[in-house]
Amino acid sequence: MKIVAGHTARKRFGQNFLVSDGVIRKIIDAVAPRKGDTVVEIGPGLGALTEPLLDRIDHLHVVEIDRDLIARLRQRFPPERLSIHEGDALEFDFGTLQGEARLKIVGNLPYNISSPLLFHLVRFAPLVYDMHFMLQKEVVDRMVAAPGSKDFGRLSVMLQYHFHMERLFIVPPGSFNPPPKVDSAIVRMIPIDHLKVGAGETVKNHDRFASVVASAFSQRRKMLRNTLRELIAEADLAALGITPTDRAEDIAVADYVRLANFLAGGGGC
Ligand code: SAM
Repeated sequence: MKIVAGHTARKRFGQNFLVSDGVIRKIIDAVAPRKGDTVVEIGPGLGALTEPLLDRIDHLHVVEIDRDLIARLRQRFPPERLSIHEGDALEFDFGTLQGEARLKIVGNLPYNISSPLLFHLVRFAPLVYDMHFMLQKEVVDRMVAAPGSKDFGRLSVMLQYHFHMERLFIVPPGSFNPPPKVDSAIVRMIPIDHLKVGAGETVKNHDRFASVVASAFSQRRKMLRNTLRELIAEADLAALGITPTDRAEDIAVADYVRLANFLAGGGGC
């Protein structure tokens, strides 16, 4: 059991608290909040990012699940400066925070729920200005991976369709208490505006897109003509400009969009 500043760190809530002033400063500089921004922090914990964020802006929203931490936050910050949304970020409707400004979302995320949380956040992309997250480095590498790399997978395709993403810097385990077992990294995510000229073909049916990407990567070592045999004929794959002998990790996000739109339009087997 690890006690940090009088709080028992809970493994089930992924509690690794940031303690490096240098890293905290770098994160806040990357987020660059300005007065008037609508900022929301996921998992404020003991306030390592909360306090320096509030040094720069007048008001902050936070979403926190741990009742003990919520009680401490309530004592430390007045409600006119900090709005505490008690509950699970996986179920939180970020749309309720929508004001005049788009949302800046930040967080040193609980690593045990990082993928489902990222998928949950995808649906709010049109309301978002930008997002900055600390995640396991290995997850960030998968998020930003390019086609042809071993890290390119379902997470890469689903997130890269919605966001421009950039790995900003790596954070070593010693920057946290208790320290995690692996390196972490900060990622910046900026929504792609699909209405803008040059943003590429738009997904017609998001469920179809998600299911095609999941099918393709269900057997990532196999050729697409085999993995997708039930969905689309080899000749139709080729007509879409996709090499049937390629594997899921070889084709680009735009190829997945064309494929999903073809199937959504009634093409396929
Ligand atoms: N922001 C603090 C820091 O950097 O030191 C704490 C980060 S800690 C890695 C993750 C935080 O997310 C904890 O405060 C934890 O209680 C909270 N948390 C875990 N699961 C959550 C969930 N499902 N919804 C909201 N908050 C959650």
